[in-house]
Amino acid sequence: MKTAPDSKPRAGKPMLRRPSASDGRRLLIKDFSMDDLCAFLEQRGHEPYRGRQVWEWLHGKCAASFDEMRNLPRALREDLSALFAVDALAVDRVLDSQDGSRKFLLRAADGETIQSVLMPDGRRLTLCVSSQAGCAMGCAFCLTGAGGLRRKLETAEIVDQAVLAAREPGALERISNLVFMGMGEPLANFDSVGAALRMLTHEKGLAFAPRRITVSTAGLANRIRRAAREWPPVNLAVSLNAPDDALRDRLMPVNRKFPIEELLGACRHYARATGRQVTIEYVLLDGVNHAPRHARTLAKRLDGMPCKVNLIPFNPFEGASFKRPSDGSVLAFQEELKRNGIEAFVRNSRGRDIGAACGQLGGTPHGR
Ligand code: SF4
Repeated sequence: MKTAPDSKPRAGKPMLRRPSASDGRRLLIKDFSMDDLCAFLEQRGHEPYRGRQVWEWLHGKCAASFDEMRNLPRALREDLSALFAVDALAVDRVLDSQDGSRKFLLRAADGETIQSVLMPDGRRLTLCVSSQAGCAMGCAFCLTGAGGLRRKLETAEIVDQAVLAAREPGALERISNLVFMGMGEPLANFDSVGAALRMLTHEKGLAFAPRRITVSTAGLANRIRRAAREWPPVNLAVSLNAPDDALRDRLMPVNRKFPIEELLGACRHYARATGRQVTIEYVLLDGVNHAPRHARTLAKRLDGMPCKVNLIPFNPFEGASFKRPSDGSVLAFQEELKRNGIEAFVRNSRGRDIGAACGQLGGTPHGR
């Protein structure tokens, strides 16, 4: 992966990724932080404050072309057009669900394809974004994981999922929440996701409050601790799915590296450092992980931790080796958790008819 301009510690002048014929593609302008863009344009002979204007057009007003940037001199707009494409992603197709969800099939400059989903829910409009094309984590119940990792996304490609969705009519003001629950493991793309979070929460960008953003991880405990130090204080969700290591080892290979106690220790640390309650996600797999004893063990493990549990009945996909449990057993599991003092909610996935529900992304629309 190429390094984004603001992903390394710097001293003095910012390190800039320069245009290069060997790049094989144009630079991604949304990889630049505001400061880096100011410095970059200054080095090209433009007034440094122009960088702030351009950055605001791109990230705050979601401009679709440099020509829209009417307060910029023509020479600057021409310079920008020669160097950059405005967007890192193009919308290939849009699929609409009966429940109002909208899935975007997006294509990067190298032809790589990813997906994001816009989900209305009452007054909330949540955008679910991807952090990688595919995923290396290999969770047994996930379609994205079945295809492996193709590559990590650049910062601009993460930011652009929000910018492109915000260009939908009326969406700029309406998108209320952002969740990193699409394709990929966000903490395995730490620098690019961190840079994207700083841009998405920037007051001149889309200006999401950190409490409106949730990053979901399969459980990279060391990176959770690092995120507590280095990222804006966003919400953390952890995909747990089993109350003991033997079962979790089978469902999620990452558990062999970061077993449950180590993972929950990192979650407690994150909650203390950020003041945020951690969300524990638990995909219910028929006959596998939702017996009353699983609920009681889970409750014991979470005892004293500021958290809530989201229960997600499995969303079957073609070739899946698990089934969705009955509604009755989902409710019974929820009740058992509540009886043992744990706040638990059943989360019904959106967009199941368009392959946009949890664990379904990365399906067949592009023939992958
Ligand atoms: S559940 Fe998340 S971390 Fe696991 S394979 Fe799927 S995308 Fe990757």
